[in-house]
Amino acid sequence: MKALVWTAIKRMEVKDVEKPKPSLGWVLLRVRYTGICGSDVSGFLGLNELRKPPLIMGHEFTGVVEEVGPNVPKDIIGRLFAVNPIVGCGHCRYCKMGLKNLCIERKIIGIDYPGAYAEYVLAPYDNLYPVSDPVRGALAEPLATSLRAVRLSNASLGDSVLVLGAGPVGAFAIKLLSASGIRDLTVVEINKNRLEWARRFGATRLIEKSGDEALKEIKELYPEGVDVVIDAVGSESTRRLAINAVRRGGRIIFVGLHDNEVKIPGNVIVRNEIEIKGSFSYTDEDFRRSVNLLEQGLLDPREGWVDIRPLERGQESFEELTGTYTRYVKIMLTPGE
Ligand SMILES: [Zn+2]
Ligand SMILES: [Zn+2]
Repeated sequence: MKALVWTAIKRMEVKDVEKPKPSLGWVLLRVRYTGICGSDVSGFLGLNELRKPPLIMGHEFTGVVEEVGPNVPKDIIGRLFAVNPIVGCGHCRYCKMGLKNLCIERKIIGIDYPGAYAEYVLAPYDNLYPVSDPVRGALAEPLATSLRAVRLSNASLGDSVLVLGAGPVGAFAIKLLSASGIRDLTVVEINKNRLEWARRFGATRLIEKSGDEALKEIKELYPEGVDVVIDAVGSESTRRLAINAVRRGGRIIFVGLHDNEVKIPGNVIVRNEIEIKGSFSYTDEDFRRSVNLLEQGLLDPREGWVDIRPLERGQESFEELTGTYTRYVKIMLTPGE
């Protein structure tokens, strides 16, 4: 089968690889659409500790079941599913608490198992969610990531919320916050196109600046600071900005994964009693809600913010996403429509 293989830093190649066979409890899906995630782009650049070449990435996808392994009902063959790519061990403390995202032996399709930038991919039967639209369904994974961040933020009606970054996670967080009734929703982003999509998704104020310049503008607008910050970038600059922009006793969610080691003002966190919480991927419950929201029509991928391309344009698409000029919120690859 055809697959887009990450062979070395900054190198994606379409190769012919062996078509896999589903084992006990797993299924083989014919891939429909796979979104390119910011974490894949970090991997491509060699900045993600979890990804090692050669690797077929791709964890945001839909596919049609082609073949099932032992112990899987055969009547799902031919049906379309979105796939939760997180595979938990099922018996650790966190799996038992419903926190598969924190599983000690957590494995992810597209990182630890071959992913969906290919004609076919394997996934556990337990991780399948029926969906009605193959493009919309491929948004379930990134939307679930935003949904968890928004849920953990406890943003309430009447709060002022600041979102840093309007890539997919930031943009979808804006959509969810706006849909939940948040009316004071500021976004900081340097890509003009993404800023415009953020406005259409419900942002009420756009700041096309970064770092200290962005902080200056936020401080003029909110002298006491904002109630909630969601950092969907995770660079040293955005983490510092989050801490300096939030009000005393306010809450920050770190969901972006850009820089591991960062310098942040620790005494400000103490003196201002700032709450900081990490948000990593999603639980099964977040994923279920995300699929429901999409089926209910929360996002319309045909408004122009999703671009669909063949696997052969993988290299070019990854290069585009390393810059700050892309016109799209999400680029998806397909092995053939
Ligand atoms: Zn992702
Ligand atoms: Zn586990």
